[in-house]
Amino acid sequence: MIPPPSGSPTLTPLPREAHPRPAPAAVVALVGPPNCGKSTLFNRLTGLRQKTANFPGVTVERHHGTVRLSNGKVVELLDLPGTYSLNPRSEDERITDDLIRGKMPEVCVPDAILLVLDSTNLGRHLVLAAPLLALEKPILVVLNMADELRARGGQVDVEALSQKLGAPVVLVSAAKGEGLEGIHRFLESTFRAPAPIPLPVLESPPSCRQWAGQVAAESAYRPPVAPLWTQRLDSLFLHPRWGPLIFVGVVLAVFQTIFYGATPFMDAVEWAVTASGDFLEERLPPSLWRDLLLGGVWAGVGSVVVFLPQILLLFTFIGILEDSGYLARAALIADRTMAKVGLQGKSFIPLLSAYACAVPAIMATRTIENRRDRLATILIAPFMTCAARLPVYTLVIAAFLPNRPLLGPFLGTRAAALLGLYLLGFTAALITARVLKSTILKSDRTPFMLELPPYRWPTLESIGLRLLDRSKIFLRRAGTVILAVSVLMWALANLPREGGAPPDMDHSLAGTLGRTLEPLIEPLGFDWKIGVGLVTSLAAREVIVGTLGTLYGMEGDESGVGLQEALRQNLTPGGAVALLVFFAFALQCMSTVAMVRRETGGWKVPLIQFGFMGVLAYLGAFVANRVVSWLV
Ligand code: GDP
Repeated sequence: MIPPPSGSPTLTPLPREAHPRPAPAAVVALVGPPNCGKSTLFNRLTGLRQKTANFPGVTVERHHGTVRLSNGKVVELLDLPGTYSLNPRSEDERITDDLIRGKMPEVCVPDAILLVLDSTNLGRHLVLAAPLLALEKPILVVLNMADELRARGGQVDVEALSQKLGAPVVLVSAAKGEGLEGIHRFLESTFRAPAPIPLPVLESPPSCRQWAGQVAAESAYRPPVAPLWTQRLDSLFLHPRWGPLIFVGVVLAVFQTIFYGATPFMDAVEWAVTASGDFLEERLPPSLWRDLLLGGVWAGVGSVVVFLPQILLLFTFIGILEDSGYLARAALIADRTMAKVGLQGKSFIPLLSAYACAVPAIMATRTIENRRDRLATILIAPFMTCAARLPVYTLVIAAFLPNRPLLGPFLGTRAAALLGLYLLGFTAALITARVLKSTILKSDRTPFMLELPPYRWPTLESIGLRLLDRSKIFLRRAGTVILAVSVLMWALANLPREGGAPPDMDHSLAGTLGRTLEPLIEPLGFDWKIGVGLVTSLAAREVIVGTLGTLYGMEGDESGVGLQEALRQNLTPGGAVALLVFFAFALQCMSTVAMVRRETGGWKVPLIQFGFMGVLAYLGAFVANRVVSWLV
C-alpha cells in the first residue's frame, strides 16, 4: 500500500496566518467539473508540479499554490474538487459548496473564482455556471481545451457568452499554455462582482439545463464532432461482446509485461544494491554499526527497492490506459458487472485505483453520493490487489513456480499465477459487496453518468510526472517506514548480545517473538520467521520482503543464496500458497486503516474491516495449506 502524495489529501484547515510571507493579497478558488483540465491549469499557473488522480469524477485532493503576477500582486490559488453542480449530494460537492460560501470557518473565503469549463462540452458544463454566478462573487469563466475545440471543428463566440453571463470569459488551452494572459489580467485586476443577470430557479436542475442550453445557443456555440476514429474505436471497445473480451485481453497483456518487462531493470537495481553493499563492506572497519548498516539498512531497504521497476511499470500502464481515454470505457463496461453485485459504475473508478493503492481509492469514494454504496466500496477496496502486494507475490511465485509457457508467448505460468491472485482478491471483493448490498447496506440503484472523453495519445510529460510522483512516494516509504522496520528487525535479530557476538537466531528477540507466535501460525504452514514477517508487515505489506531478507540473510550464508532459495528451503508448497492467500485477504496496512477511520468518522468501520479481513485471511490460508499439502 502506497500513501498518497505528500500534502494534505483532504481539506485540512488552512488558517491565513499559516501562509508564507508576504501574506497573499487575495485567495482565488479554481472550480470546475471533473476532467475539465483544472489540475493542468493549476500546474500551469502556479508552476507547482503535482499530479492527482484524474479519472472522470475523481480529484479529491485539494492543492494550493501561489501565483506571482507581473504587477507584484500575489494570489493564492485553491484547487477545489471537481463538481458538476453545487447540490451538496456528494462529499466533494459539499466541500466545494461550503468553501465557496464561507461555511468553512477555518479556511479563508475565496475573494474570487476561476470557473473552469471544458469548451468541448459547454452545453453540459455551463450548468455549473448558474449557481456560481448567483453567488455574485468576482468570477472569470475559463473555457479550457481551446485546442481541441478548434481541432474538432467546434466554435464559440466568447464576447457573446460574456454578455450573456455578465462576467468575463476567456478561451484557453491549459495543456498548450494558450490564452493564459487573459487569466493573468483577471488575477492582476481589482476583483469586481459580475453584472446581475436573470438566472434560472437554481433548485430545479431541468431549468438550469435549459438555461445552459439556451446560453450556449445564443453564444453561437457549435460543439465539436467526435473524431471519426473515436466513434470507430468506441463501436469496438463498447461492443457488447468484443468490449469485455478486449478488456480481458488488455489486462492479460499488462500482467505479462509487468512480470517480464521489469526483469532486466530489477536485475540492474539488484546489482547496484549488492555492489554498493560489497563496496561498503570492504571499506568499513568491522563494528556493530557496519553490521547494522549492511545487515539492517542495506539488506532491508535494498530488498524492497528492487521492486521499484515493477511498480513503475504498473503505473505506466495505468497512466497510458487512463490518459488515452480507455479507462472511462472500461468503467462503462464494468457498470453492468457492478450492477450484478448491487454496486454502481461510480464504484468502479475508486476500485480500479485501489489496484494501485487503497488509500487514494478510499478518498476517491467521496464522489459516490449514496452513503451505503460508498461504505460498501470502502469496505471492499482493500481486497483489490494493490502495488504493495506485488513484491510479495512476485517473490513467492518466482520461488515456487517454474516458468513455462501456457498460451504460447501470450501467457506464462508465473503471469497466470499472478493473474489468479488478482482474481482472488477481486472475487472476494465482489462476494463481500454482494452480501453487504443485499443485507445491511441495501439501497436503490443510482443511474450511472460518466463522460466519455475522446481518445487521446498519452503524453510523455503526463506519464513521466506520474512516475516521478510514484517514485518519490515509494522511495520516501523505503526511506521511512521500511527503513525503520528494517533497523528494528535487525535489532530484534541481533539482540541480546552476549560478549559482543550476535546470538544465534533462535535465541534472539525475533526468535523469541516468532516462537511465541508459532502455535498460532503453524496450521497455516508457516514457520516462525514468516510469523515475524506477518507482524512487521502489519505496518505495510511489502515490509515482509525486507524482514525475511534480514531473517534468512543472517543465517550466515554469504554465498549469494537468494531469498527465493531460502524460501524454497523453509516453506512447503502448501505454506507458500497459504502465504499468498493470506496476503490477498489480510488488511496489513496501517495507512488504509487510518484513512478508513478518517473517511468514516470513527474506529468502528476500520476495526470491523480489519477483523473481517484478518479472519478471512487466516481461514483462507488454513484451507489453502491443507488442500495444497494434500495435493502435492
Ligand atoms: P481535472 O480533473 O479537471 O483536474 O483535469 P486534468 O487537469 O487532470 O485534465 C484532464 C485531461 O485533460 C488530461 O488528460 C489533460 O492532459 C487534458 N487536458 C487538460 N487541459 C487540456 C487542454 O487545454 N487541451 C487538451 N487537449 N487537453 C487538456
